[in-house]
Amino acid sequence: MQTLLRILRFARPLRGVIPIYTALIILATIFSVINLTVLIPLLQILFDQVDVAEYSELPEFALTTDYFKSLFYTKLIALREAKGKMGALYFLCGFIAISVLLANIFRYFSQLILAKVRVRVIRNLRTAAFQSVLNLDLAFFTNFRKGDTISRITTDIQDVEQSVVSSLKVLIKEPFLIIGYLGALVTISLELTVYTLLLIPAAGFGVSLVARRIRKWATKSQESMGRITQTLDETFGGMRVIKAFNAVTTIRKRFQKEVDSYAQENFEIASKSNLSSPISETVGVVVLVIILIIGGRMVLTGPIELTASSFIGFLVIFSQLLNPAKAISVCMSQVSRGIASAKRVFEMMDNRPDIVEVEKPVAPKSLSNGIQFQNVSFNYGHEEVISTINFELRKGETMALIGPSGGGKSTIADLVCRFYDPVKGDIYVDENNLKELSISDWRDMIALVSQEPILFHDTVANNIAFGNPDSSISSIEAAAKSAFAHDFIIELENGYETVIGDRGNKLSGGQKQRITIARALLKDPQLLILDEATSSLDARSEQLVQQALTNLMAGRTTLLIAHRLSTTQHADRILVIDKGKIVEQGTHKVLMEANGLYSQLTRLQSF
Ligand code: ADP
Repeated sequence: MQTLLRILRFARPLRGVIPIYTALIILATIFSVINLTVLIPLLQILFDQVDVAEYSELPEFALTTDYFKSLFYTKLIALREAKGKMGALYFLCGFIAISVLLANIFRYFSQLILAKVRVRVIRNLRTAAFQSVLNLDLAFFTNFRKGDTISRITTDIQDVEQSVVSSLKVLIKEPFLIIGYLGALVTISLELTVYTLLLIPAAGFGVSLVARRIRKWATKSQESMGRITQTLDETFGGMRVIKAFNAVTTIRKRFQKEVDSYAQENFEIASKSNLSSPISETVGVVVLVIILIIGGRMVLTGPIELTASSFIGFLVIFSQLLNPAKAISVCMSQVSRGIASAKRVFEMMDNRPDIVEVEKPVAPKSLSNGIQFQNVSFNYGHEEVISTINFELRKGETMALIGPSGGGKSTIADLVCRFYDPVKGDIYVDENNLKELSISDWRDMIALVSQEPILFHDTVANNIAFGNPDSSISSIEAAAKSAFAHDFIIELENGYETVIGDRGNKLSGGQKQRITIARALLKDPQLLILDEATSSLDARSEQLVQQALTNLMAGRTTLLIAHRLSTTQHADRILVIDKGKIVEQGTHKVLMEANGLYSQLTRLQSF
């Protein structure tokens, strides 16, 4: 119930439509009920059973069903006197036709409103879900979570739309119809209605049992869908490796396994859902038979009086009453599935980032002294990845981090960006603790060029202006020129307006990297972080990228993570990082002379 209310909260901007919607539904219900109840006078006219004496005078006005009933009968009898039975028949048929038409017009408009609510709820929910995920820490986005999160935002929300929100139509409209029909039943015969009401709850019981089962399987099926999405994401991202390692069969088997369990779980859901309709129908017919016996007795032997036409009218209305009741029970099983999805979406939305701003953050504008690590330690779980590190990156300086893979270099860069907070110790930017700074202002001052160039499915110009959407085309071009990217960009089919494929697959590695360098140049950052930006390139591409990087680094505070020692030789200072510690530091010359890890690595590489 709580989950349902939380979904509905996303419809909030449309609160104003509730009174209109309610009015439309009430009108639609009134006319639906009227066109069925008119059946009774119709039968009475046909079977010549109208009591003329009872309705010879117009009744006194009162807001009761009795008044309207008497009024209707008086007019009907007057009409029959004036125009004969056929005249009365025409009148009643016309009356039914008009009330059906009106009922449907009102229903149509009410559904239109509901459709608007439905699309709005889903739009708002999806936007909010995406927004909440964007706010999460980088640490959240492990490979497993990526697929799962995509599936929550796509399929789970779609499930919510198809089940919960679509069911609203039934859950809101049908109770009105039930009340309307029940009202009509009570007017015909209170006693028979009471018997009926005693029997109906039996119908609901079986269905509620089924609904619980469905919910269990729905959760499993959505988890499977998460794993399917994850496999797809990994497969398409790693297609090159999959093919090169002849791993197509392996990956196909893995996909098959997930798809199989998804199919099995959906079969379980379907078999349970399909149970709810036969159960409710069988119980419904049993109830109807019992009412036939009780009502038939009343008509035939009393003691409670009931005319045959009223009893037929009662049965017709009762059979109509079963429809909304059945629709509600079918809907409840759908809702169960949707609620399971909604819970997964909300669970994701309830994740809170650990990296948050202090209440009154300092807004840095520029870097005046540098960045200082003071006794910084960090771990991702148990093992310490950074152990009590101290260093200072001075303004304008290029500092290289070097060392064996897994030593903690990227982690240091992540700490500088405040993707993580140190477990112990502090990082200072000038005289301010990094934790005191406004996160977005600080990141505005940084440009990151990573080993794997990250490009988006968009135009070249937009990829360069990523994060700076207001940049002029001339500044974008200037950045591209400094990054040695302009020449190949203008050769592309639409120049700067060429849409590059998913993750930039239409471009070579070096070209992609030069676009990301242009992006960094356009940002004109105070601090530049280069994470092995040339390590995956061939010699020719590397040369161009290196020239582009030289332009980018000129006079800029730079933190350079490098595998290739050739790129570090011109660094002002080199920190050699191994197992989370700084094991050596100094210039290339000093470190070579020291004959430690650095000179070892250099000799290995030149060899
Ligand atoms: P380097 O950049 O020097 O290769 P990293 O900083 O990437 O080293 O990694 C340091 C250690 O932290 C490694 O042992 C690595 O396995 C671990 N590590 C890196 N990122 C994560 C992460 N997101 N979750 C858990 N462990 C991680």
